[in-house]
Formats: sequence, C-alpha cells, structure tokens
Amino acid sequence: MAKNYLDSIVGVFGHPVAENPTVVMIEAGFKAAGLQNWRYLTLDVNADDLGRAMDAVRFLGFKGINLTIPHKVAVLKYLDEMSEAAEKIGAVNTVVNRDGRLFGENTDGKGFLTGIKEDAGIDPADKKVVVIGAGGAARAICVELGLAGASHITIVNRTLQKAEDLAERVSSKTKADAAAAELVSGFTIPDETDILVQATSVGLYPDIEGKADINYNSLSDTMTVCDVIPNPPNTPFLREAEGRGAKVLDGLSMLVYQGAIGFKLWTGIDAPKGAMKKSLKDEFGI
Ligand code: NDP
Repeated sequence: MAKNYLDSIVGVFGHPVAENPTVVMIEAGFKAAGLQNWRYLTLDVNADDLGRAMDAVRFLGFKGINLTIPHKVAVLKYLDEMSEAAEKIGAVNTVVNRDGRLFGENTDGKGFLTGIKEDAGIDPADKKVVVIGAGGAARAICVELGLAGASHITIVNRTLQKAEDLAERVSSKTKADAAAAELVSGFTIPDETDILVQATSVGLYPDIEGKADINYNSLSDTMTVCDVIPNPPNTPFLREAEGRGAKVLDGLSMLVYQGAIGFKLWTGIDAPKGAMKKSLKDEFGI
C-alpha cells in the first residue's frame, strides 16, 4: 500500500465545528496505536446538508462519523440501526459504517459511566442522583444512569419544561424514578444525594469563572460530584465540591472515555486513552 494512501477515514460533522477538539484526541490515538492509514476529519456541515453528508459517509466508505451540534437528533433518520441506549436517549453522536449499513451509538453517557465507575470507583446502581441541566449531555447521562440502575434521578434545570420532559423520558425508558425541579438561585442539594452531576454548559472556556448558582454549603463529603465541562476541567464547581470533601470527577475524563468507545467501535482496537488524554491537555494548555 502506498505510504500516503488513506483507507480509513472517520471524522465529525457539525456546525459550527472549527473549535471541536476531538480531532486532536483521535489522531493522537491513531498515532499511539500505529494506525497510520487512519485520519479524522473535522467537517462543517449545515443542518440542511446532513442527509447528503450521511450519503457521503456511505459512498466514500468512511469507517464512521461523529455528530455534534446541530446533528445529534437529526441524524437518526439516516441510520439503519442503533443501540438500545441510543434509541432511549433519542440522540446519536457516533456512527459506525458496517459495510454500508450505518449503526448509531451515543457514547456521551457511556463515557460518563465509565469515568464514574473506573475513576471515582462508584457503581451508580441503587444510588440517588441529582443532575443539573437538561440538554443533550444531561439526556445521555440521565438515561445511562437509569439503565445502570440508579434508583432516583432529580433533574434540575433553568427551563423547567425541559427538566420535566427529560424526567418523563427517564421514568418511561428506565427503571429509575425521575423528578424535575427548577434551577432557582441557591438551589439546595438534598442531603441524601449520592451523586451530583453538573451537566450545563456553565464553566466552559472562555466562561472559566462561571459556576451553577446553587447552595454549595449543601454539598458534603458523602457525595460524588461530577462536571461535564472538559475545558478547563478543574471548574469552580468542582473546586467548591472538593473544598467540602466530596469525591470529584471532571469532564476531561468523560471526554476521553466517550472518545475511546468510538475509537474501539471504529477500529476494533482498545483506545490508547493515556495518549488521547495527554493530547487534549496539551491542546487546552493544562
Ligand atoms: P445543550 O445546549 O443541549 O444544553 C445546555 C444546558 O445548559 C441546558 O440545560 C441549559 O439550560 C443549561 N444552561 C446553559 N446556560 C446556562 C446558564 N447560564 N445557567 C443555567 N443553565 C444554563 O448543551 P449540551 O447538553 O450538549 O452540552 C452541555 C455541556 O456539556 C457543554 O459545555 C459541552 O461542552 C459539555 N459536554 C461534555 C462532554 C464530555 O465528554 N465531557 C460531552 C458532551 C457535552 P436551559 O435548558 O434552561 O437553556
């Protein structure tokens, strides 16, 4: 095979997408795994062009594709099949091209679950969870926590209706009891909470001083507190939790774990997670 021949293309479709860091992580993974004919492309695809872009995945023989804003829900109608969890979540961020048949998976919630089990050492089964946020990340996390056996999930969001819709989804698609609440200033986290997840976009670069407006004195050392924000990972939210003795889990680990699941689905090889994490730290300057 010629040295520069690329037989294995994957990538991401999004809009806007130029700032998406996944290329750095996945290309570092290819390099560390010795996959020299693989490339990850960051491709700007408008909402109206998604159908033609998914056709291109098939006829150009891409091995798969990631989807980011605004395509995670819209892509469903172009897939041949999807995982049970992706169907319950109602969104797909990773597609695998299996000989022309497109299989959809959602790795966001699974990446979160891997992190909480492996890095925090917590099994969500029978745990009481509070999730702040009701957007795409929260949706994937709540459904996966429900499928992993969490007993109760309270979804707290600025827009109450979105929290109610997500609670209804979780209650109907998993065995967890779910409830909704409005994120009001000084919201108090119930004492009996085992796991608290910050799943809004507050704190994401450049909003690095931003933090959810909750009562931080309601956090305690019996809680595991997680944030989805990968950049910077040491958010003010996690620092408040750490200061009160809570076990913490950052969004960088979730980003690496969710990328590692896609890497394995595409290549069949266990992802070199250390090299992938280092590449993101270098990229974010941390
Ligand atoms: P969405 O746009 O779907 O949802 C955004 C959420 O944040 C909503 O719940 C929204 O509330 C809330 N929100 C936004 N601004 C504020 C504010 N000022 N105060 C209170 N709540 C606010 O985004 P996603 O769910 O897709 O992404 C959320 C974050 O998760 C992003 O920062 C993204 O980078 C991160 N992420 C991390 C991943 C990882 O692997 N680490 C994977 C995927 C996402 P409302 O409904 O009221 O608007």
